[in-house]
Amino acid sequence: MLADAPRAQLIHIETDRRLGHEWDEWDGKPLPGNGDFSARPGLFFRLGALTLVVAVGAAAALVFLLAPRLESLHPSVPTLLWAALAAAAGVCALWFALLLLSFYGGTVLLPEQLLERGPYLRLMSLTSHVARVFGKRDWVEHAAIDVYNSLAERRQRRVGKGELLVLIPRCLSKQTLDGVLAIAGRYEVPVFVATRGQLARRVIRERRPRAVVAVACERDMTTGLRDVAGKLPVLGLTMRLPNGPCRDAVVDLDVMERWVRSWVSQTAS
Ligand code: SF4
Repeated sequence: MLADAPRAQLIHIETDRRLGHEWDEWDGKPLPGNGDFSARPGLFFRLGALTLVVAVGAAAALVFLLAPRLESLHPSVPTLLWAALAAAAGVCALWFALLLLSFYGGTVLLPEQLLERGPYLRLMSLTSHVARVFGKRDWVEHAAIDVYNSLAERRQRRVGKGELLVLIPRCLSKQTLDGVLAIAGRYEVPVFVATRGQLARRVIRERRPRAVVAVACERDMTTGLRDVAGKLPVLGLTMRLPNGPCRDAVVDLDVMERWVRSWVSQTAS
């Protein structure tokens, strides 16, 4: 009978939401905290320290396992490797201490290429992988980006209006987009919508800015900073995702205006 015939399941496909690949595994449920992944810097520092311990431990395990074979090459090879590993662990510990002192001391104790635009970017990326094991990826990335921004802001960099670029993603809410465009208009800085990380990098290659204010979710920002911030000064503004990833994202426009103003203010005519 027609009334008893099995009904096909209606699968609803949201055509107005194109997920960035960073969100491929999203299950469609609301994000925790309404998509606000704010976290205290201490969370990153704890996971960052753990990441360094895991990395040194993995290297030590490798040396331990390979020692018998290496000894057959030359009896002193394992000893040299242990000494090199101990020295590397010491340098890592010292660097991490200087990072902590810089951040909590309100200063910067190392040049940027040895701090936030150098090894820090690598640590941030590795720590993100460790955080995934604990299901804390977005919060740890948020804290890591906050630490990065604090250190980068303290450099008090200044650029010309035409030398600053604002990069935004395609997922901003209309109200946020209007706010971003208003700020860009006030300070006469160009704004580009980068639909993918690759395009963002292409815009940077072609426009050759001297500094960038980038907007993205924690996941996209972490990979973007890793790829770009070593070559170019970047401040990275993360977003809230009240309607899930890749749609209607909201940013703190006050922070964005403060950053844009601070970077172009000195050279304003
Ligand atoms: S920046 Fe926006 S569009 Fe890109 S992955 Fe993140 S939430 Fe999705």
